[in-house]
Amino acid sequence: MTQESLSRSLKEQTNLGPETVAAALSKAATTPAATKGQVEGSTALVADTRQTKLNVSGWELEGISISGQETSIIVPRAKVTFDIGRCPQRACFQQTVLLSHTHLDHVGGLPFHVCTRNMLQLPPSKVVVPQGFSAGVRKLMDAVLELQFSPAIGYEVLELEAGQNFELPSGFLCRTFPTTHAIPSQGYVIYSQRKKLKTELQGKSQAEIKELRLSGVDVTETHQVPEIAFTGDTTSAFLDAETNPTLEDALKAKVLCIEMTFLGDDVTVEEARGKGHMHVSDFVAHAHRFQNDSIVLIHFSPRYKRSEILHQLDIMLPPVLRAKCVPLLNGIE
Ligand SMILES: [Zn+2]
Ligand SMILES: [Zn+2]
Repeated sequence: MTQESLSRSLKEQTNLGPETVAAALSKAATTPAATKGQVEGSTALVADTRQTKLNVSGWELEGISISGQETSIIVPRAKVTFDIGRCPQRACFQQTVLLSHTHLDHVGGLPFHVCTRNMLQLPPSKVVVPQGFSAGVRKLMDAVLELQFSPAIGYEVLELEAGQNFELPSGFLCRTFPTTHAIPSQGYVIYSQRKKLKTELQGKSQAEIKELRLSGVDVTETHQVPEIAFTGDTTSAFLDAETNPTLEDALKAKVLCIEMTFLGDDVTVEEARGKGHMHVSDFVAHAHRFQNDSIVLIHFSPRYKRSEILHQLDIMLPPVLRAKCVPLLNGIE
């Protein structure tokens, strides 16, 4: 497909809305070129065989996450993607990329996101990165633009201070919390903002409140509700770190996406920690920390088959915890 026809095709899909884009993606996923028989080996690159959607605690998520291959978790309502992976097509339509860290399986598709949005004349990408990583991300983009003989393209790169609010173009707020990986990394919490009657006015009559409002008094205050949190790659050590209000919000968000790279006896808990990742036993040891309604488990090692993952979760997780865990198995056979 030429760049022009790809652009036309994507533009048409954009105008048709997210449902149609999803339908097109689902159709593409069943084309013969993407079927199981045409990839090689258990760790083959099977990104296009995926079923992409999950509905958890009132939130639609989609994407793919396989350790060392690609991680991109898209939240269409908030118009963000957590990490960009290889930039699945629908990720291009989420303006904000929240990067947990800069390993290639999490950042590799970023130039595609920036350039595709530019080609489609969509508002420029906004990219949030851990402290100290904006210069490196700009270098990556400079190299790609130089190789393409492309003129400068607009995009924003931001580093947030701990506890700093970042208001997303979709109206949700986002804050970061520290995680513990082989390289500097951070997780994110997305908050909805809800207006409520000020606490001190509760109990007053409708007429009194109306009178106050008409006299120019702001009778409401904004509450921030933690909706979705994402850890990116991390060991369990971030859960034992000094208390941090954003981390506490992550652990009570409606949905928590947390990595679980290792599940079996083939890798010990210590080895998993040494590689900068979570082992299911470490997750279970911290079960009391998770107050979330739903927990989406991501970033499984490609060494595991789908049936092995489900079996290990069934035997390792206490029933109450298992009931709220949803493994993201897209692309895993
Ligand atoms: Zn990774
Ligand atoms: Zn990593």
